[in-house]
Amino acid sequence: MKTSTRESLIAAARSDACLMRLKESLSRRVAIASESQNPERRAELFRYLDEEIAPSVAGIGFTSTVHDNPVDGAPPFLIASRIETGATRSLLMYAHGDVVSGQEGQWQDGAAPFLLTESDGRWYGRGSADNKGQHSINLVALEEVLRARGKLGFNVKLLFEMGEETGSPGLAEFCQIQREALGADVFLASDGPRLNAASPTIFLGSRGVANFELAIALRHGAHHSGNWGGLLKNPGTRLAHAITALVDGRGRILVPELANPPLAAAVAKALAAIEPGEPLGPEISPDWGDPDRSAAERVFASNALEVLAFETGNPRKPVNAIPGSARATMQLRFVVGIDPSAIVPAVRRRLDALGFNDVTVTATREEAMPATRIDPDHAFVREVVASMTKTARQAPAVLPNLGGSLPNHCFSGILGLPTVWMPHSYPGCNQHAPNEHMLVDVAREGMALMAGVLFDLGGLEQ
Ligand SMILES: [Zn+2]
Repeated sequence: MKTSTRESLIAAARSDACLMRLKESLSRRVAIASESQNPERRAELFRYLDEEIAPSVAGIGFTSTVHDNPVDGAPPFLIASRIETGATRSLLMYAHGDVVSGQEGQWQDGAAPFLLTESDGRWYGRGSADNKGQHSINLVALEEVLRARGKLGFNVKLLFEMGEETGSPGLAEFCQIQREALGADVFLASDGPRLNAASPTIFLGSRGVANFELAIALRHGAHHSGNWGGLLKNPGTRLAHAITALVDGRGRILVPELANPPLAAAVAKALAAIEPGEPLGPEISPDWGDPDRSAAERVFASNALEVLAFETGNPRKPVNAIPGSARATMQLRFVVGIDPSAIVPAVRRRLDALGFNDVTVTATREEAMPATRIDPDHAFVREVVASMTKTARQAPAVLPNLGGSLPNHCFSGILGLPTVWMPHSYPGCNQHAPNEHMLVDVAREGMALMAGVLFDLGGLEQ
């Protein structure tokens, strides 16, 4: 039987030759210390786009422009486009080239943040998983499809941002301003983890996130607990009770406006086969969250209110005194159906209703990131699922949204696109920590899966 173009493309995308090309380009990219939270690395953010991405994509027919951020002093963007004569459909792909702090000196022996090293089937380096490795896989996949048949059959636009790790400043404004240049029919990108290393996965949006601080300041300094205990209100006790007014002892949210939205049938159906967790990860608590929801429904289709930090007095050196103040940092992860601007007012009302007028509530993140999701039955989702199933010979896990948060509202909301994310990383990748890595096997499979989808999107010969 004659091998089809698609079959030889998938074989090429899985080959050692392709893997070596990926490793080569990723090594160059990891070596650029594009830490967006570090003002001293500002030049590296530009260098990543000007000296690395622009020339690489020029090699496969893209024209690119680096743009200033509409927010003064915030990191730059790059838009690249590849327009084919006769093509009517357009695909927008997104990536981020910035990384979090390299945390030099904290990596295991033989590994360092800005040098790609291989050991035990893993590529170590800052950005190997988040996000340089993932967009490098997608660029190799594009290149392979072009090599296999000379054209794509659709137009592609690439958007690179360099400030994702600082909360994507200016991304929403930039998408608004560049609506036309970024206009497309569908959106496809790779970031975040697969459900687990072994399962090809797509997710269709992300949970939103909002941080806020609860604080109570009663008096200056601490007062001896023997002389004053029983006379002075204790801020730690007050704050602990204020938190229990918001969330109960098994993690169920008690603020009526922040309760879980009802589970849509299509979402429940998509999650029915999903088992979250990782073999090497922590054990999932059976007695946590809504007892009527499965683990997958709790992390992908529910809200979660977390205490991130709580402090009163000096926990490292307690003294016999009633502290003067207490504060806690809280975080709400939430799904579609919660209005981000309504979160802090809802918390305020709940505290007031239960007599906690002495506790202040302040939003602490730049801005709450809204939740997004598209219908798992959307035609584009079905198209991607069919393609991945053909390539991997197993259906991918379809998550209506990621448990974590991504600036997907810019693409699904502002640009109005159906959004599909195909992650090439896994939950144990040490993203944002020392020893960040990409699994070589997953990288290889990622190139094949993405090449297959890009090939099938062209709707040309099989
Ligand atoms: Zn990140």
